[in-house]
This record gives sequence, structure tokens and C-alpha cells, in this order.
Amino acid sequence: MTLPALPGQSPEALSLWLHEQGEPSFRAKQILEWVWKKKVVSFDAMTNLPAALREKLAASFRLSALTHSQTQGSADTTRKFLFKLHDGRYVESVLIPANPALYGEKSDRRTLCVSSQVGCAYGCKFCASGLAGFARNLDPAEIAGQVLAAEQIAGERVDSLVFMGMGEPLANFKNLMAAIALITGPETLHLGARHLTISTSGLVPQIRELADHPQQIRLAISFHGATDEVRDRIMPVNKKYPVAELMAALDDWNAGKKQKLTLEYILIQGVNDSLEQAGILARHARGIRAKVNLIPYNTVEGLEWKRPAISHCRAFQEVLKDAGVMATLRIEKGHDIDAACGQLRLKRETAEGLIQEA
Ligand code: SF4
Repeated sequence: MTLPALPGQSPEALSLWLHEQGEPSFRAKQILEWVWKKKVVSFDAMTNLPAALREKLAASFRLSALTHSQTQGSADTTRKFLFKLHDGRYVESVLIPANPALYGEKSDRRTLCVSSQVGCAYGCKFCASGLAGFARNLDPAEIAGQVLAAEQIAGERVDSLVFMGMGEPLANFKNLMAAIALITGPETLHLGARHLTISTSGLVPQIRELADHPQQIRLAISFHGATDEVRDRIMPVNKKYPVAELMAALDDWNAGKKQKLTLEYILIQGVNDSLEQAGILARHARGIRAKVNLIPYNTVEGLEWKRPAISHCRAFQEVLKDAGVMATLRIEKGHDIDAACGQLRLKRETAEGLIQEA
């Protein structure tokens, strides 16, 4: 039987466990501090706990939800981590260095791109994560544990998170919100909610549910097509929640939230990169007061899509700017390390026979 992971225990759950063991409740704070602040890698390192309690902890919990399997580094210091889970599956997280265009030359801010599922059921046509279908949801410890593990490996504090890795985060809503409670909690990781961005392909009911959540979590939409015709072609989710329905939900989102929405738009040659699409995209973005992140397509092994010329990407951006929309053109960091989400995991799971080659 696999033991539960200690980082998945909320302060309340840990207090309850201690109570059942006949231990004083103040031990919960000490244990959480060892796990989340001091990031120890063994129970024996928890030196202010009695040996008998350390033994009970070791008999009841795993100290980590994931095992570091591989790191890929790129020239721009983006690092991708591959983690093995208790059932032999893999997920990946990407640590992205500061973007001087956003934060200034001297900034040393670091963002971690976090996965929420093994694989993905949404099957966007351009995405490596969707290529082999859906395996399972990550549990709260496996989601929040990626941050802990990345900080342990890198020896650096992560300043912000984007739930933009493998999986559709809003399709794993309950576990995602439990992970966010661990990530933002004062006794656990204590990262401000406004430094968290959830990226969704456009699950309208969950967007509405998230809008009612009191924390000021940011929202980004993987938009990638300004009309139903284009979006239907590359994102099957659009058949269920078409553009007009999505825009209405985002309009309502704005009523209760302070931060600007973001529309992510991967530019794919000959698919969604016409200047006509740019004009329609500009109208949508203006309507919901969103900024637009343009990302020239990152080639995925096994897929036919291509990246447009950078000069064409700039022309697309100009249409947005001329319409008064804030639009950044992000030359993907980590282009040399399979940075598009899911590629490293796809290679490893295929090599280990967990996924059949198409
Ligand atoms: S882009 Fe996101 S929602 Fe679409 S298949 Fe990839 S991981 Fe899933």
C-alpha cells in the first residue's frame, strides 16, 4: 500500500492525525515548518521532534509526493524537471527565469509552470500533452509538491506559478483548489494568490465557479483562435463551449476581479495567424479588457504544425496594438529543451511502455 504524502496534509488534517496519535497539537506547526519552510528530505532531519514521533511519521507518510527523475537545462537558464509519481507515471514542471520585458533587467523573479494532470483529455491538436490522451488527475500533494521539489532542486525560491503545464487544471478543480490552499496557506508555502495564474482551454462552468472564489487568482485563457471556425479545428473544447459563451463568462469574471485577464494565443502557420483573425481577436480582447500573449508555435515531435516567420508574428501583433490592445510577443523560452508542455514526459513514458506509440 502506498502511504499518503505528507505535503498533501492540510494543517487541519495533520492536527487531527497528531490528536489520534496522542501527540500535542503544537507539533503540527513544527512538522509543517520542516516540510514547507526548511524543505527537509528526511524525517530524521526534523530534529526538534521526539524520535518516537519521527518514527510514527515515517510509518504513516511519504515525505515527498514525487521523485526527481531528470532535469533538462536550456541556454536561457530555463530548466525542465521530470518527476516520477508513486504509480510509475511522470509529470513535468518548468522553471522559467525572469522576463526582463515584464519585470525589468535587474529582476530575478522565477516562475514555475506546474502540471495538474497526467496527460490531458482535451486533445488540442497542437499540444504534446493531449497526444497520448488522459491518464489521471494529480492529487493536491502532487500539484503543490512540484513547487516544493523545484525549490529543493534549484535551491531558489519560486516567486510565481502558472498552472499551464500538462493537463487542463479546471478539469481537476477540487484537487487544484486543495493544492492552492497548500500553496497560499501561511503555515505551508505562503505564496500570494495574486502570483498564481490558472490557464484553461475554456471550461465555462468552472470559470464561473472560480470567479466566486474569494482569492484574487489570475486567469489566462488558451484561446488560439478568434472564431468558432478556427477554434473548432484545433480545440475540441470549443464545440462544447463556443467563443460567445466563453466571452460571456469572462465578461462576468471581470465584474468581481481586479486583475486583467490574459488571452494566450499560439501562432500556427496557416491555421490561426491571418491578419483577419488578428482583427477579430482584438475586438474580443477589447470587449473583456484582456491583454494578449502571442506565442509563436513551438514544434512538437509527431505533429505537423509550423511556426510562422517572426516578421509575420510582428505584423499580427501590430494589428492588436493598433486596436489599442496590450499585446506581447513571447519568443518561447526553453525552445531548445522540448519546452512545450508534455514532450519530455511523452518521450519517457513511451520509452518505458506506459504509452503505446501511435
Ligand atoms: S493545450 Fe492544455 S487543454 Fe489542450 S490538450 Fe494541451 S494540456 Fe490539454
